[in-house]
Amino acid sequence: MARAVRDPSESDGDPADHAIEALRDLGIPIDPVTFTVWYEYYRGDNLDLKHAVNKLLRSDAEPSRADCLELHSRFLGNHDNMDETAEQIRVAIEAALSSIGDAGKQNAAFGLRLGSISGDLVDCKDSRSVGSIVASLLRETEKTVRRSRDLEEQLSSASGEIRLLKDNLADLHVEASTDALTGLANRKHFDKQLKSEIDEATTTDSDLALLMIDIDHFKSFNDRFGHAIGDEVLKVVASTIRRSVKGRDTAARYGGEEFCVILPQTDLNGAIIVADQIRLAVSSRPLTHRTTQQDFGRITLSAGVARFRTGESMKELVERSDKALYKAKEKGRNRVEDETALD
Ligand code: GH3
Ligand code: MG
Ligand code: MG
Repeated sequence: MARAVRDPSESDGDPADHAIEALRDLGIPIDPVTFTVWYEYYRGDNLDLKHAVNKLLRSDAEPSRADCLELHSRFLGNHDNMDETAEQIRVAIEAALSSIGDAGKQNAAFGLRLGSISGDLVDCKDSRSVGSIVASLLRETEKTVRRSRDLEEQLSSASGEIRLLKDNLADLHVEASTDALTGLANRKHFDKQLKSEIDEATTTDSDLALLMIDIDHFKSFNDRFGHAIGDEVLKVVASTIRRSVKGRDTAARYGGEEFCVILPQTDLNGAIIVADQIRLAVSSRPLTHRTTQQDFGRITLSAGVARFRTGESMKELVERSDKALYKAKEKGRNRVEDETALD
């Protein structure tokens, strides 16, 4: 039985808004954990989480806060900063909700008061008491108008605060998954993404390939020109890799001068072509200092390509592409080798 929540594939717009809407519709309290789970669901990057939530929505059981806790601990590790921001969001949401609650109580009290006044009107006999009842009615109405205005102000300041915190949370997501030097995905994000793509390839029985790329003789490049220039070269290589991939592909800095590219829905030949494009783009580019025009020559890359085999672990896939990379180094560098070159 599908639950009545918005489908992530049909919803553009802000995932935070959709998360709050879904939690309301499901009657789950909004707190840092429940919010983060549904925020991630609507962001859609975490495929494991997405599948698990879809499964839960398809089941007969009513999704609960306990389900959210379980999903959170299974798919969303501990991000201290994120927890802090989520806590701030919780506080802001609670403040807004309590304003709404207070206003509700006050309006109910106003309703009671009006009720008793109309009773007085029915009973009243002389014009003097009608006058005082009307005055009292006016006072109550004015109070309610003032309260509504206060509430509006409180809500608008709370919603501004929530919007700001939502942006913070989005920034933290980017920060936590990005390599600071190159702007590519970091190792942690790579691991998470590869695991998701392996699950997706297994479920949908589709191709998945992995590239491992390593800069050739980078130690001697650093020794000749210095680490700072080396860092600039890492950025150039990263942007070349970024330009060579598209859509759902994930380009990551695996560590040091090593990069990885996850290529979903790509067979071995397709992946070899991508690897060779990257290799050629880097090796054909003369490197010169932007301001001094100092010539740093050219650098080359070696790459290893492997194709995911159903049932194998992430480690096995990574190891096979690493071995293919090692083969490329062995065979003279500045080349691409794939898993068929391995014994
Ligand atoms: P090979 O062709 O066999 O890969 O040789 P290599 O010199 O590239 O490999 P090796 O593993 O011996 O050295 C890697 C070098 O990469 C060592 C280090 O100076 C450099 N390196 C790693 N991380 C960084 C970095 O963040 N910045 C800079 N500038 N250099 C780095
Ligand atoms: Mg290396
Ligand atoms: Mg190297």
